[in-house]
Amino acid sequence: MVRAIVGANWGDEGKGKITDMLARESDIIIRFQGGSNAGHTIINHYGRFALHLLPSGVFYGHTVNVIGNGVALNIPYLFKEIQSLTEKGVPAPKILVSDRAQILMPYHVLFDTYEEERLGGKSFGSTKSGIAPFYSDKYAKIGFQVSELFDIEALKEKVERVCMLKNVTLEHLYHKPPIDPAELLNTLFEYRDMVKPYVCDVSAYLHTAIKEGKNILLEGQLGSLKDPDHGIYPMVTSSSTLAAYGAIGAGIPPYEIKAITAVVKAYSSAVGAGAFVSEIFGREADELRRRGGDSGEFGATTGRPRRMGWFDAVASRYGCRIQGATEAVLTVLDVLGYLDEIPVCVGYDIDGTVTRDFPTTVQLQKARPVLVKLPGWKCDIRGIRHYGDLPKECRDYVEFIEKELEVPVTMVSNGPGRDEIIHRQREN
Ligand code: GDP
Repeated sequence: MVRAIVGANWGDEGKGKITDMLARESDIIIRFQGGSNAGHTIINHYGRFALHLLPSGVFYGHTVNVIGNGVALNIPYLFKEIQSLTEKGVPAPKILVSDRAQILMPYHVLFDTYEEERLGGKSFGSTKSGIAPFYSDKYAKIGFQVSELFDIEALKEKVERVCMLKNVTLEHLYHKPPIDPAELLNTLFEYRDMVKPYVCDVSAYLHTAIKEGKNILLEGQLGSLKDPDHGIYPMVTSSSTLAAYGAIGAGIPPYEIKAITAVVKAYSSAVGAGAFVSEIFGREADELRRRGGDSGEFGATTGRPRRMGWFDAVASRYGCRIQGATEAVLTVLDVLGYLDEIPVCVGYDIDGTVTRDFPTTVQLQKARPVLVKLPGWKCDIRGIRHYGDLPKECRDYVEFIEKELEVPVTMVSNGPGRDEIIHRQREN
């Protein structure tokens, strides 16, 4: 059975924790898009980890962890990340890398940095991981597939051709030193030797795995609102963050994805620029940021303070719909225990008209939040394992959100640890 686990908001919903949890019952976990530009935080008996490129199943010996063809593969980064696990005592994970994955080149990181510099105050707030230049090259057909590393003559010719193109931009737009093709070729030879033991025809591997009835988990990165088509374009990422893309980015038939778990956060947080209707500021935001997540809401990749806001039902319902969510997991509910009243955004006021439908970016910029206030529960709910043991106000909050989402909330997460979860259907 194939399940996708994806974010319904702006990312940082706590997918890492839920994936790590679901990985226990999975045989194969696959990253199908994005690169090392977002981090998943996982806390388990080995310690606290911020994974960027590795699938979140790497802590279980029984799992195979796959980098699908849709991923921006930063080879040295992948190795650094594997090393950071083994250094903390995690047994070496089983990893497969798609022969169709494309390689994030050293110059992609440079171009990302130079472009942000050039844009100055108008920048997109990139994590400078090279993701936008990588996907631009992939679709401009000047990217490098892992399989191409093994055809030396063709590789040499292509490196020269691509360098010529890149060097014009480097010299004339950015006024930076050119790339030396010979040096780049050597780097690619090093990459080839590093990645060789892991290379696999992933699509064929998954075809067999599906036939054998294996449990497969497609792990998304970021969330619905960062999708280049359905998100807050252009303040989005460069690869699709939607479950539907899981089929393409892993190489499986779309109809095999039987379950789509959308992770929804009990309040909102976002990194980078872009309209954020339920955003809060000042002391109110500082307090939520400080209390949020497991150690405050700061970017797992950049350490940047995240922008904070109240739960946004308009964005989250849309986020679930566009993912095709079959269930929702509500995370970080415990964090809200300090509030007397909890504001929730239930509509957008755009030029005096209130809508419950998430609009395109132009309209979104004009939207003002319509808030309702729900009573707080004023206590610490960590440690509670049965839904019925949650304070009534807390259950009311969950059920209000569930109604707004129009998707069943099957799990509630009330702490960062792997076992801090309340299964609703089982308990009720
Ligand atoms: P991801 O990229 O979607 O995995 O999200 P992040 O890992 O960036 O952000 C989620 C943060 O919340 C991390 O610091 C997690 O450890 C933490 N977290 C996840 N679930 C919970 C929860 O239910 N309660 C609390 N307090 N923290 C949580």
